[in-house]
Amino acid sequence: MTRQESVWDASPSLKSYTLSNFRQLPQIQELPEETRTEMEVVGHVLPFKANNYVVEQLIDWDNIPNDPMYVLTFPQKGMLRPEHYAKMEAALAEGSKEGINSAANEIRLQLNPHPAGQMELNVPTLRDGTKLYGMQHKYRETCLFFPSQSQTCHAYCSFCFRWPQFVGMDEMKFAMQEGEQLVRYVSEHPEITDVLFTGGDPMIMKAKIFSKYVDALIESRIPNLKTIRIGTKALAYWPYKFLTDPDSQEMLDVFKRITDAGLHLAFMSHFNHTSELRTDAVRAAITEVRNTGAQIRTQSPVLAHINDDADMWAQMWKMQTELGCIPYYMFVVRDTGAQHYFGIPLVRAYEIFIRAYSSLSGLARTVRGPSMSATPGKVQVAGTLVINGQKAILLKFLQGRNPDWVREPFLAKYDENAIWLDDLRPMYSEKFFFEDELERLRAPKTPQNPSSQN
Ligand SMILES: *Cc1c(COP(=O)(O)O)cnc(C)c1O
Ligand code: SF4
Repeated sequence: MTRQESVWDASPSLKSYTLSNFRQLPQIQELPEETRTEMEVVGHVLPFKANNYVVEQLIDWDNIPNDPMYVLTFPQKGMLRPEHYAKMEAALAEGSKEGINSAANEIRLQLNPHPAGQMELNVPTLRDGTKLYGMQHKYRETCLFFPSQSQTCHAYCSFCFRWPQFVGMDEMKFAMQEGEQLVRYVSEHPEITDVLFTGGDPMIMKAKIFSKYVDALIESRIPNLKTIRIGTKALAYWPYKFLTDPDSQEMLDVFKRITDAGLHLAFMSHFNHTSELRTDAVRAAITEVRNTGAQIRTQSPVLAHINDDADMWAQMWKMQTELGCIPYYMFVVRDTGAQHYFGIPLVRAYEIFIRAYSSLSGLARTVRGPSMSATPGKVQVAGTLVINGQKAILLKFLQGRNPDWVREPFLAKYDENAIWLDDLRPMYSEKFFFEDELERLRAPKTPQNPSSQN
């Protein structure tokens, strides 16, 4: 399949901006020195990377400091709590490399780098006992695969919950070199239908490397494997990956091999704002990806300072549907990193969701949320209600560590300040119905209790 002759007379090459060179940007030079200094303080704790496409085509530089794409990619002072900000500011003034690093690490450890039990609970094991740190298997049907070459992204989102991977907290890095172990694990687990490539962003990989993993899966013809998912932000941050990069056609050919093999290719695409859907490049890239037979599903958290606006969500889901994408998840910002900056109350997230959702055609009401990816599972805020004069929040599992949990809607006391599941209290009991079982699942694996972790 050859690509249509298109408007791309130039093949832009990716130019990254990080702490070491962001001051070269003319747009940044126009900002007050104070702002650049703040970026440096925050950027020494949380990951920071932008690129030429984000800077030139997504950010509206006439709308600083409020532009959503600017807040999404450039560090803002409020992303660190005042005491953490002061600590890093002092370390930078002091100027010793060691002092800066140790301040950074002390602060990071206070930002809950491991939300949702990812390290202790989700690590799968092969039958021969090999632990697969480059995989996670939390929900029965879907396992996550973190190729070692995809541990970065085309730019970094300031809210990202994978942030420890990008700032060199190496022991917290999930990664795997071996496609062969992936094939073995999926073969040993007939309940797995979906393999989700994730990272970082797997679409940072060269087509040659990505195809090694994919071809291993295709060629092994594992009967239970039905779907390959790719969790990516490349359409939003670097659409040229599918248009003009040297390996763009090769990458599209890999996608085509997946669909030709009869597998479903689900492109799980992160879009946080309508700004990311307006450029010629993203629209052309969506067309190219869809032409391979892939389905594009979309997801994003709801974020203060970026997209806490029902009209924006309604418009975003409508635009996606027009472009042939399927709105899939609205998430709640996780309890890690800069949650205090991006988090909004759960009842407000629900208001935004339901206002936007109720304005959509049924075709776009494929979206679910707002959903918290918490230790027990994906918990949806499904509504608010009044029972015998008492306000309550209705919750349900969209995914559970125990799949049966999705059958039981449950109630929490109404709390207009709660921003995460841990902030909520059960309506009528001491504990939520799943808590005792979750405790047992968390118990360390012992010979008497061999399958306690998944
Ligand atoms: C969200 C998620 C999945 C996929 O869940 P779906 O509801 O099938 O999209 C798989 N594993 C983990 C750890 C997840 O957070
Ligand atoms: S693209 Fe995804 S993994 Fe990368 S920084 Fe953004 S949210 Fe994190």
